[in-house]
Amino acid sequence: MNDRAVLHDIIEASAAGCPLCQRRDAAERRFVKSFAYELVNDPGMRVHLRGSLGFCRIHAEEFAAQVGAPLAVSLIHSDLCGHVVERLETNHPIRAMRPCPACEIGGQRERHDLELLGGSAVPNLCATHPAPVPKRGLPTGPSVAGALPVGSLAHAVRTDRQEVKLQGRAYSAMRRRLEAVVHHYDYRFRDDPFDDFGATWQALALFSGTHPDRRPSP
Ligand SMILES: [Zn+2]
Ligand SMILES: [Zn+2]
Repeated sequence: MNDRAVLHDIIEASAAGCPLCQRRDAAERRFVKSFAYELVNDPGMRVHLRGSLGFCRIHAEEFAAQVGAPLAVSLIHSDLCGHVVERLETNHPIRAMRPCPACEIGGQRERHDLELLGGSAVPNLCATHPAPVPKRGLPTGPSVAGALPVGSLAHAVRTDRQEVKLQGRAYSAMRRRLEAVVHHYDYRFRDDPFDDFGATWQALALFSGTHPDRRPSP
C-alpha cells in the first residue's frame, strides 16, 4: 500500500473511532494469524522470541486460538524451554529483553501511521498516541507440572542451587513433552497412541500466564 492509500485508509477508519488504534490492533491480529503458518520456523523470529521469552498474555491467547496453534505453540515453546534450561545451567538471569513481537508490530504500525499523518487533523484520534510499546511482563504464580512460571523463576533460583537443578529438570521435562507433541503432528506417526496435548497449554501458561488446564481463547 502506498502512502496515499494508507492516508485514505486512516481517514476512512476514523469514522468508526480512533483510526490509529484500529490499525494497530489489526496489524497485531494479522501478525498473530500469519505466525502459525509462516513465521513459526523463521530464525529471526526465534531469536526475538528468546529475547521476549514468548508472547504477552493477550497475544498468546490470540495465538492459541489459531487453527495451526497446537503444533506452532509446541514448536516455539520447546525452543523456549531449551533456552531457559541453558540460561539456568550457565547462571544467566531469566528476564525479558524485548517486548512481545506482536506488541512490537503494533507499535511500529502506530509510529508509521503517525509519521504519515505528519500532524494533520484526523477525527477521533486519541490523545495517547504515540503510546510506548508495552514492556513484556513475565507471568508469576504457582508451578505448573513442577516448573515455575518464567516471572517467578528469577527470584526462586537466585540463591538456591537446589532450585536451579529442580527447575532445570522441570523445564527439560516440559521440553521433551513438547517434542512428543511435535512428533505426534508428523503425519508418519499420526496413528501412534498419544494423549499429552495438555503439555502445549501448560507451556504457554509458563511463559504467558494463560490458563494451564485448557486451550486458551481470546
Ligand atoms: Zn487511538
Ligand atoms: Zn503482545
